[in-house]
Amino acid sequence: MKKNCALFIFCFFLAAANYSSFAQDSSFVKQRLDSLMPVRGFCIAAPDPKEIDRFVKFIHEELSPRKVNTLILRIDYNYHYESHPELREDSTLSKENIKTLVNACKENNIRLMPQINLLGHQSWAGQLNKLLSVYPQFDETPHVKMPAKYVWPNADNLYCKSYCPLHPDVHKVIFDIIDEICDAFETNAFHAGMYEIFYLGDDECPRCGERVKAELFAGEVKTIRDHLAQKNRQLWIWGDRLIDGKTTGLGMWEASYNNTYRAIDMIPKDVMICDWHYERADKTPVYFAIKGLDVITCPWRMPELAITQTEDMLRFKNESSEIMRPHFMGMMQTVWSDAGSFLDGFYGISKDEKSGNNTPWNCFRTLYNKIDQLQ
Ligand SMILES: [Zn+2]
Repeated sequence: MKKNCALFIFCFFLAAANYSSFAQDSSFVKQRLDSLMPVRGFCIAAPDPKEIDRFVKFIHEELSPRKVNTLILRIDYNYHYESHPELREDSTLSKENIKTLVNACKENNIRLMPQINLLGHQSWAGQLNKLLSVYPQFDETPHVKMPAKYVWPNADNLYCKSYCPLHPDVHKVIFDIIDEICDAFETNAFHAGMYEIFYLGDDECPRCGERVKAELFAGEVKTIRDHLAQKNRQLWIWGDRLIDGKTTGLGMWEASYNNTYRAIDMIPKDVMICDWHYERADKTPVYFAIKGLDVITCPWRMPELAITQTEDMLRFKNESSEIMRPHFMGMMQTVWSDAGSFLDGFYGISKDEKSGNNTPWNCFRTLYNKIDQLQ
């Protein structure tokens, strides 16, 4: 009996020692991954109410095992806003829907944040979004009429409408919805979009005309950043307006052709820059880091490119000074479809023959296989 008892105690300590060693190993692995790639993100449109359960399953079974730690959901006006019911889309996510997503992310240590497109992207093709259709007085270019049939290029250079950042009433409305959606997401960060802005400081705007566009852009970034900071929330934005499109050859979508790029020296340094490049691994993360800004690189649907961009991110970090190194924060895949279409592709329910290997779901698997190898 004594002998059995001694054996039991011996086995117990052996198991405990093994467990402790395993725990230390896994903790070490996680620490290493967190230091090499602090942000491991995924950005997609918020799922429709009917897709919530499937998306929660995806969080548990696909995002979490791949160590994704940041999830951005583009929600815009697809929420049952109480502060501004007039801005709700027809079918919206409820507070309970969001709570389900919040809980799934909490269980898996994933930082969840919402995105509402601010400043630009206030219309799409021939359709105004909710903000400008309800509050037409916020339109930066009211003289530009929405076309019955949208084509690009067009005489008005209309890509997407913008709101006027100097309209005296616009921030009251958008701050209400930012606060409400951040509370619902129980989050300490908010993504404001602010990309592909062609209309800014229009000559005909009585408030903005003749103002310096870079100052208008930087002013709006700072206004939103300062509002969020009151509740210890961080602002994230896309990086394209801060890159000079002409000098870099990156063009007017992926970079700025209207001189907003000078705002890179005017915006607060605690804004996270999401630097998207979908066809070539441009080395712009270095530019942001040199300016003292935290940056993540965002691929979309090209797996090989995502691998190069991940290797670049690691190399930039490795080959930089100690001061600049922490600015290279990691990777975030961006998916520009709705969540349901992505899940259909991911689970093989729908096929995308013409895209070949270059699909968002292939890119997702490839990017996170690559990140997995870092451990
Ligand atoms: Zn204006």
